Amino acid sequence: MRKAAVLLGLLMIVGGLTSLHALDKVRVVTSLTDLKSITEEVGGDKVDVFAIATGFQNPHFVDPKPSYILKLSKADMFVTVGLDLESGWVPPLLNSARNARINKGGPGYVDASVGVALLQVPSSVNRGEGDIHIYGNPHYWLDPMNGKIIARNICDALCRVDPDNAALYQANLKKFDDRIDAKVGGWISAMKPFAGSKIIAYHNEWVYFEKRFGLTIVDFLEPKPGIPPTPSQLAKVIGEIKRDKMKVIITSPYFTAESAELVARNSGAKLVTLATSVGAEESIKNYFDLFDHNIAKMVESLK
Ligand SMILES: [Zn+2]
Repeated sequence: MRKAAVLLGLLMIVGGLTSLHALDKVRVVTSLTDLKSITEEVGGDKVDVFAIATGFQNPHFVDPKPSYILKLSKADMFVTVGLDLESGWVPPLLNSARNARINKGGPGYVDASVGVALLQVPSSVNRGEGDIHIYGNPHYWLDPMNGKIIARNICDALCRVDPDNAALYQANLKKFDDRIDAKVGGWISAMKPFAGSKIIAYHNEWVYFEKRFGLTIVDFLEPKPGIPPTPSQLAKVIGEIKRDKMKVIITSPYFTAESAELVARNSGAKLVTLATSVGAEESIKNYFDLFDHNIAKMVESLK
């Protein structure tokens, strides 16, 4: 009996050590699921990653919950899309978390946009009328080639906060880049027959996707980014769809269906919901799935 107890005690110690080891992982919090997916590709089993927003939430508007503050207060690294995408919710969360390691300028702070060739950068910053996208279009992760820049920024930070595993992170980064390069050609050629297709989008979040995959987005249901559709804007869009014989209106899981359905009904165009982030649908489990899904859906609806 005593031997059994000793053995049990030993097992508990070993078990304790194992879980201690698990805590040795780099604790990363990301604003979006796409950044989580890329961090997991680069970090492998050395990272424990939590994403604040779900894949079917509007990334501009997320409710800051106390549980996120707790996660951030213990994190070694924080990855943000940056620009003004999360300006309504990330700064208050970081302020409340009081964790110097992950604040701007800290070793664990990652602005994933560093090095990205931004599109639609306005000539002057204007916050009037509730404008968003004031530093340029922040939806850059929807071009898979920008995924490589994001991965590089994440790799640099992982190497800073956990230099012992730098070689592994760099090797994983190379694997990630190679896999993107291997996949992107297939995605581009799948879209090639539809090059120049004119479409309408709900929100101005597809410019990087549009540029990479040869689409032409003519107009948006929102009169301005972040401003809900107005009757006059919807009437204008219906006119444009009819004029250019457009087939497709793309929307995202977090927009209400009424306006988009009204436009579809009155114009004859098809309403297609694309995924803007990993986890938008059950089947989209990582950053590669995101493009597999969206390209398949676009090909299907433009045929
Ligand atoms: Zn936006």
